Amino acid sequence: MNQQEWNKGLYVNGEWLTLAETIPVQNPATREVIGSVPDGSVKEAKLAVDAAHKAFEAWSKTTAYERAALLERWHQVIESRLDEIAFVMTMEQGKPLAEAKGEVQYANSYIKWYAEEAKRIYGETIPASSGSKRILVQKQPVGVVAAITPWNFPAAMITRKIAPALAAGCTTVTKPAEQTPLTALLLAECAHEAGIPAGVINIVTTSKAGEVVDVWLDDSRVKKLTFTGSTPVGKLLMRKAADTVKKISLELGGLAPFIVAEDANIEAAVKGLIQSKFRNAGQTCICANRIYVHEAVKESFLQALTQAVEALRVGKGTEDKVEIGPLIDDRAVQKVQHQIDDAIAKGATLHGSPVVEGSTGYFMKPVVLSGVTDDMVCMQEETFGPIAPVSTFTDDQEVIQRANATPYGLAAYVFTQSLTKAFYFSENLEYGIVGVNDGGPSVAQAPFGGMKESGLGREGSHHGLEEYLEVKYISLQFV
Ligand code: ADP
Repeated sequence: MNQQEWNKGLYVNGEWLTLAETIPVQNPATREVIGSVPDGSVKEAKLAVDAAHKAFEAWSKTTAYERAALLERWHQVIESRLDEIAFVMTMEQGKPLAEAKGEVQYANSYIKWYAEEAKRIYGETIPASSGSKRILVQKQPVGVVAAITPWNFPAAMITRKIAPALAAGCTTVTKPAEQTPLTALLLAECAHEAGIPAGVINIVTTSKAGEVVDVWLDDSRVKKLTFTGSTPVGKLLMRKAADTVKKISLELGGLAPFIVAEDANIEAAVKGLIQSKFRNAGQTCICANRIYVHEAVKESFLQALTQAVEALRVGKGTEDKVEIGPLIDDRAVQKVQHQIDDAIAKGATLHGSPVVEGSTGYFMKPVVLSGVTDDMVCMQEETFGPIAPVSTFTDDQEVIQRANATPYGLAAYVFTQSLTKAFYFSENLEYGIVGVNDGGPSVAQAPFGGMKESGLGREGSHHGLEEYLEVKYISLQFV
């Protein structure tokens, strides 16, 4: 593929804008620059809102069937360019090609789901207390939506926001993470090709996140903020959104507990853990972060886990059969290394070595830590990397307390063969998502989101659509 193609413009009002100032895009597997995008600023941020505001007039008046047809078309175009988008994603983000393809399909499943769901935005009629009155409830699009997305899912985090927004009749301005802007722009290309009208989707690439996003937060024409990223930035944006009382959805950090009960199927638990823990080299907000294994099954679990972890193949995402790509940058590597060092200093045992000899990129080999205690940094701070810290427990109630003793509440996992325990754990864990014997719960038709400081609102499912809709009550009286 010609790398020249990867010098892309930003997308505003159906046009591709180039700027003198650009941001280089780096391949985390080699540290090589693989392309560039414009470094947008206040001017482009304003142009994007102007375009989205103008487009809202017509887009919000289209029928659900028209919007559904365009979303379907967008879905088809992405499907036809799947390999190309996945390849670019691997080059700028690092995840193995098979995983990148999986992500493009997963991202596209949100477009398909919301194309279908657009036709089911139902209102209500409510019995009135007077015979001369009728109570009607209508759903209307909130207006212009600002979407801020992270680098770990360069495609899915975008479609999970834009697809329901468009289905609802909203228009959008998006700022993708500066590490992974190319995938976002490719999705916009597909939308353009699909005939989604100018101004409905706008993508502003920038290295000055605060500057661009502040323009949107200060603008009263932007009615909704949807953000996926770190908890501190989410809190900052929430504060700023208060001045114009925007509707908000936040998908923030996690610190997922992964509980292996006394009666768990160990093979399934190890498989589920590998799936949850090492997806995207451990860089997802629902990755298992704290692993609690019942004392009775500790030995067999650890043995099977260390074997499975040793077998994971690390390398460039473009190489065949690679399962673990590089981390996103050096800061990520340092953070993970610090957690390993801290755990060892406090008495944990390291199984394996994270060092990848002669590597050109930000690679780390997956490792297991055993003998982990709750005072270690890896049990208190989101890891976002390929380490599996294993602690033990003897009492179910006690492990639930430990699992809940955090400000986070995004995803939790429980492995058990008992129905009673499955309900006991899942109902008492203070988490928005609980995978029972399931290490991969994310799907378009289910509500994804966190409790406590892990976020507000839900993405996916019909709940995700509500986030982009206003409820209008019409009281009608016969006179
Ligand atoms: P991470 O540490 O995973 O990169 P961040 O929360 O820093 O998570 O980033 C998530 C998204 O938020 C990215 O698109 C990033 O550019 C954006 N972002 C970071 N800081 C700010 C800020 N001060 N204002 C607006 N957006 C921001």
